[in-house]
Amino acid sequence: AGVDNDSYYFRGYAHWGVHETMLTDTVRTGGYERAICDNAAFFKDKVVLDVGCGTGVLSCFAARAGARKVIGVDRSDIVVKAREVVRANGFDGVVTLVQGKVEDVDIGVSKVDIIISEWMGYCLFYESMLPSVLAARDKYLAKGGVMLPDRTPLFIQGWRDPDGRLQFWDNVHGLDYSSMADLPLDEASVEVVGRSDMVTERCLCRDFNHETVEDEDLDFEAPFEMVVTKPGTVSGLVVSFDTGFFAKSDPPPPSPPCPPDAGISGTGAEAKAGGKEQSTPPPSTATMTVASWFSTGPESRPTHWKQTLLWLRPSEKPEGLAEGDAIAGRLSLHRNEVNPRELGLTVTWTATQQSTGRTFGGTQKY
Ligand code: SAH
Repeated sequence: AGVDNDSYYFRGYAHWGVHETMLTDTVRTGGYERAICDNAAFFKDKVVLDVGCGTGVLSCFAARAGARKVIGVDRSDIVVKAREVVRANGFDGVVTLVQGKVEDVDIGVSKVDIIISEWMGYCLFYESMLPSVLAARDKYLAKGGVMLPDRTPLFIQGWRDPDGRLQFWDNVHGLDYSSMADLPLDEASVEVVGRSDMVTERCLCRDFNHETVEDEDLDFEAPFEMVVTKPGTVSGLVVSFDTGFFAKSDPPPPSPPCPPDAGISGTGAEAKAGGKEQSTPPPSTATMTVASWFSTGPESRPTHWKQTLLWLRPSEKPEGLAEGDAIAGRLSLHRNEVNPRELGLTVTWTATQQSTGRTFGGTQKY
């Protein structure tokens, strides 16, 4: 099954369209550009590995930032075009592209100083590419080397349905379609949800540190407790992630450097100014000069990752909540046993109306 999944997966990345989608996502591509090119002093003379180079964009950024040597690896046929991109930009003296799985190929060096990769999928872990990046880390990253990005906090947040979308099935051109209405409930939906329909705080579920995270940490269950900020009904839960380029700092950050909720993206300085949560670590000459991050949250500029919406069954959804009420629960993400690139989600929640003591709760799999 592994081989079949792989060939299907990598064929998808051979098509230009998916690369257009990623490259035109300016939050994403600009976020990486800033993290790399605004840190030229950090990249200067370094040996860099780009895991899953695609069209070679991150390899070119690293070369532009002054890296001594960049090795880009991709198993997809898009590598052929990436070589043309590298040459057209005059980086062929610095950038070498290798076609194959990063787990299998000979990259020509034994250690690298920096690993860059854009591996995030919908809901962070759809596609499950991070295990390949971790394999590359364990094999090639020199002691003291840096992963970029190095932090991906995952968040959950309550959402209200503004337009009674499930009622649509009650009357489809005069036909009773209500038997269809339960189908959307069993599936995670990737869509941009309206920021004005977020009814709780954006709550951190888990913060992944790419320097230390292990493969087995990627199937997990994490608790959450979200505080209601807008009274009413919670129709669904929205999962989203941020991507941080903080790098090692000296001293290490005291706790997870989470950007402020309302931000779009920023540098360390902005994150500090927004500073409702943890400020970013102070810059050090031995490390990144400019820490930065971008968000895929509902209150930020939309990216091609959009958000992941988990509908709650109407019979179980919390209603009549007041500001300050809490929704507590657990979110679990696990790779599908047959196709590990597919993701299963389970959410369990309870909520209590403080005024009446009425409780709601349920467990739902997606
Ligand atoms: N770095 C590019 C492409 C990111 S998409 C950019 O930022 O635009 C992820 C890429 O990783 C895809 O092209 C895919 O083919 C590649 N990839 C995923 N897993 C891989 C693996 N194990 N070995 C090599 N390439 C991989």
